Amino acid sequence: MALVTTNAVVLKSMRWGEADRILTFFSLQLGKVRGIARGARRMKSRFGGMLEPFSSINLTLFDKRNDGLASVSQVDSLESFSPLRESLDRIWAAARMVALVDGVTADRDPSSAIFHTLLDGLRSLVRTDDPGLLTLIFQIHILSQSGFQPQIDRCASCGQDFGEQSSRFSPSAGGRLCGSCDRGSWDYCLPMSQGSTGFLRQARRIPIARATRLKATGQVRKEVEAIVETYASAVVGKRLPAKEPLAAEPEPVPYGFARKDVMEGRGAIHGHGNHSA
Ligand SMILES: [Zn+2]
Repeated sequence: MALVTTNAVVLKSMRWGEADRILTFFSLQLGKVRGIARGARRMKSRFGGMLEPFSSINLTLFDKRNDGLASVSQVDSLESFSPLRESLDRIWAAARMVALVDGVTADRDPSSAIFHTLLDGLRSLVRTDDPGLLTLIFQIHILSQSGFQPQIDRCASCGQDFGEQSSRFSPSAGGRLCGSCDRGSWDYCLPMSQGSTGFLRQARRIPIARATRLKATGQVRKEVEAIVETYASAVVGKRLPAKEPLAAEPEPVPYGFARKDVMEGRGAIHGHGNHSA
């Protein structure tokens, strides 16, 4: 590949050297790809402010090196999403969206479903009055589209269909566990009521552009947020950006299911106190 032009969203932007930036994009044609923008931090850079995180752009990359780092040759702004940078809850919501896409995708593995979900997610985020709920539904979509769909229709461990009864969600198994698998599990599990199972089912069916029509309140919302957050962190392998960027120390999330203490059954001491196996 030499010169490629594709639509892309900026996931990450990092200062590099005196005047350059190294960027991570999610592009329609190449999937996740990294590129260096020479001189991007100079006052009169031809890239202007077009390479800010969350920006939707038309990007031309020159790919002559073999280290995976392309050279950004031209950028045209499509949507800057500047309203997202004007409120803190929108900034963190957008930051969590791009971090999840960055975390669950492999380099140069294109997915038009993920690309359009990301774009529609950012567009909906400009309009919504509930960024937290939109982010939640976005996470459910991206997990499903990247091959990590939460298993809620049958037991994620033995495959048994155990209906709609309340159960618990195992982040390491990636889904709900039936009673006997739950009793035999040393994993940190989270409570999952029938209402939460129903919400998850609806959330993965509704297009992200219409996600704001879905409502979740009270216990269901708390449960689904805990499940999706813990599961997404387990999949990504690290904690996603804090929900409240200005808040003090975030509550510990026991995402490291491969950690020795969890494997040995001591996971509960790190949790929210609802694992008593
Ligand atoms: Zn089972």
